[in-house]
Amino acid sequence: MEPLTVEVFAVGGYGEAGGRNMTAVRVDEEIVIFDCGMSLDKSLVFEKDFQKASARELRRVKAIPNDPILRPHRSKTVAAVLSHAHLDHIGAVPKLLFKYKCPVFGTEFTIELVKADLRNEIRYADEAEDIMINLYTVEPGDEVQISSKLRLEFIPISHSIPCCVLPVLHTPYGAIVYACDFKFDDNQIIGYKPDYKRLKQLGKEGVLLLITESLRVAEEIKTPSESVAREMVNDVLRFADEESEGIIVTTFSSHIERIQAIADTADRLGRKVILAGRSMGKYGRIAEELGLLNLPAGARIYDRPETIRRGLERANKEKEDYLLIVTGHQGEPGAVLPRIVDGELPYRLTEEDSVVFSSSTIPSPINRANRYVLDTKLRLKGVKMFKDVHVSGHAGREDHRLMLRMLQPEFIVPAHGDPDMLAAYAELATQEGYEVNRDVFIMFDGTKLSLPL
Ligand SMILES: [Zn+2]
Repeated sequence: MEPLTVEVFAVGGYGEAGGRNMTAVRVDEEIVIFDCGMSLDKSLVFEKDFQKASARELRRVKAIPNDPILRPHRSKTVAAVLSHAHLDHIGAVPKLLFKYKCPVFGTEFTIELVKADLRNEIRYADEAEDIMINLYTVEPGDEVQISSKLRLEFIPISHSIPCCVLPVLHTPYGAIVYACDFKFDDNQIIGYKPDYKRLKQLGKEGVLLLITESLRVAEEIKTPSESVAREMVNDVLRFADEESEGIIVTTFSSHIERIQAIADTADRLGRKVILAGRSMGKYGRIAEELGLLNLPAGARIYDRPETIRRGLERANKEKEDYLLIVTGHQGEPGAVLPRIVDGELPYRLTEEDSVVFSSSTIPSPINRANRYVLDTKLRLKGVKMFKDVHVSGHAGREDHRLMLRMLQPEFIVPAHGDPDMLAAYAELATQEGYEVNRDVFIMFDGTKLSLPL
């Protein structure tokens, strides 16, 4: 009898928030990859166009996962799974996944966004074509046999982007659950609701390993529902409408449910909606095509430089008739809001206007610096600001505790977090009776772990 082996490869996102998430699991001779993301931070400081850069260059600046650790096993890869469409989970697909020549699974919204990125990439690299033909769409609840021993299941879950799943790899040694990212939200309207029943059942069947995000595990909360954000948006926009000529809201382009709430409120206030920015266009159009986003009549999406300019010019003439939803909530140069503030786009901000941040600042030095610059410039113009009109998409400590109690995994590997966050997860697990280095393992990028079966 061969010895039982299950190995975990921490390829990326271990030791960094908003990082290049990628994990691989080896079960005997077969490998399954979970996610293939890019680091949002590193791509901001990288001077070259991300699409034109080679994988080697991007690896060197730590913008994409350092996957040579998988090189000896590449030909044994039987599947890659994408949990959801945030760039820190799918952004490196065009750069890396072609090498693995395996089927790639995700829900429709996720796969359509990967295809949009690949279509751009094809202009620079033929390899993108190889991934395109290997993409497979799954529905929540689906099960796919990927080899004689391994089966994938996709459990619906809520997060700050539509159609997020918890992929589960069923192995002869028990289930491996990949919970990156999630929150428990029973009042989300767009996307999936968490399937508590299946999670509990899975716990009873036997979970070998839980690989889980850890971004907000240090916060002693249950993350509030998106319905709370909906109320906040409604409240702030009604208030701002009374007091302002122009209203600009900036939020995550991928947060379709939030964009829907902002657009619905604007419509009730009699303001026409404009979505402006390249990524607003990418996410907004795909969400509309799939019936996830239903913009009010008369709403417009402008995502090319000339249409953005024309749209803003029109809105600038009758500011009180419009509400703009734009990119740039992290102050990132090149996005629409910073360019408006710098006078590069034809929309003039005055003290009669309001800017609403339906977002929180992702806590990295570069975001803090960019937001400091943006906020200072807005203040100098006398613009009224409404910050933090937002709730998070990530599990708090009590959400994590619930997940742990439902799944009762034998082993735990905290992922997607900086070193403090990974340690905070270990602390929670310890409270729940686990022990560090016996059944909870802190890993960092480029390390691997053999489970002590
Ligand atoms: Zn996410």
